[in-house]
Amino acid sequence: MRLRIHRGTREIGGTCIELESEGARILLDLGLPLNAKDLASTPLPAVDGLSVPSASLLGIVLSHGHRDHWGLVPKVNPAIPLIMGQATESIIRAAADFVPDAVALKASQHLEHRKPLQLGPFAITPRLVDHSGFDAYAMEIASGGKRLFYSGDLRAHGRKPKLFDALINDPPRDVDLMLMEGSSLGRLVDDATFPSEEDLEEIFVARFKETEGLALVACSAQNIDRVVTIYRAAKRTGRSLLIDAYAAEVLKATGRDSIPQPAPGWSNLAVYVPQRQRVQLKAKGIAPLVDSYRGFRIWPGQLAESAPRSVMLFRGWMMSDLAQAGALTGARVFWSQWDGYLAEGQAGAALKADCDRRGIPFETVHTSGHAGPSDLKRLAAAVAAKRLIPIHTFERLRFPDLFSNVELANDGEWIDV
Ligand SMILES: [Zn+2]
Ligand SMILES: [Zn+2]
Repeated sequence: MRLRIHRGTREIGGTCIELESEGARILLDLGLPLNAKDLASTPLPAVDGLSVPSASLLGIVLSHGHRDHWGLVPKVNPAIPLIMGQATESIIRAAADFVPDAVALKASQHLEHRKPLQLGPFAITPRLVDHSGFDAYAMEIASGGKRLFYSGDLRAHGRKPKLFDALINDPPRDVDLMLMEGSSLGRLVDDATFPSEEDLEEIFVARFKETEGLALVACSAQNIDRVVTIYRAAKRTGRSLLIDAYAAEVLKATGRDSIPQPAPGWSNLAVYVPQRQRVQLKAKGIAPLVDSYRGFRIWPGQLAESAPRSVMLFRGWMMSDLAQAGALTGARVFWSQWDGYLAEGQAGAALKADCDRRGIPFETVHTSGHAGPSDLKRLAAAVAAKRLIPIHTFERLRFPDLFSNVELANDGEWIDV
């Protein structure tokens, strides 16, 4: 078995790994680079069979539903089999109705925790991991007597830390080569740790108590761990979580009844369909979707009165609805995503400026979706691969200081496993 990393040896984003064994090939991830302007102007990596069919390319395995791992898939020949988690497929499909230039992907097979799957000469054993993206997998791949372990994106401080512990306590064995992500390197000093989702829950509880009016939390609806954190904090402070139709569809698409959603049995939850979304749903011919939220709806006329008892999953463009409804008295905004989106020219910066104009306090409450250096060390030590190659990192040169058996690779070069 040999591999080449098309993108990711020196950056986060655009992850794509090509594996070859016995004349057959598969791809692990096919992501959109972080600096991509748009899909149309971003070229596919130089992999045979992505545009013009090639019998040797057996499929593309997607570790999880973040765009930096699947964003280029809409450009490939639709005949290529796609393999991903079932919830990943459902969430991508649910989001496609709401997110600009998004598409629904169709999986030919699903990744399932520790259930081996055979693609030609490749035996793939997925491991469900803790990550800010739902239904994310690390993968063990055996072929030609060699074993590869790809970490995908993962962390130990989310809502499913037990998955990380399980991976450490029962790691893949006899791994010849490990591809390990290093997103946090350079973002966190080596001995520091990120706050956990539980820590965040406590912070949100304190902040919601201090907030007189509506608590507005700007976070991705696809960050399911975070939505759960916010829901729990809302409930603990006697507030209801208000979500829009996009969030409602994404939460339903998880297929897990343990995740908050507009379904029987869930209290402290309501669906508010903003004006712009109402228009959008009509234009797409999917307005009847909202019928499924019967009993959970909250209407514009109720927003002001319920504001002190509500937390809203919020995006900047919803501000005009709230202003019109007179629901912003005593409101506070909590930024609960990467600070990079607050940089000049980014959507977050516009929201912050809008809050400043309106005199709405703005504060960041967030934690990383990726393992910090100390957890990565635990992982690398547990797997104890013969060779470890950095991927999904801007700081590959930090790897040799932190981990054993590190080998640095370059984008596009073939490496024997
Ligand atoms: Zn990710
Ligand atoms: Zn990623």
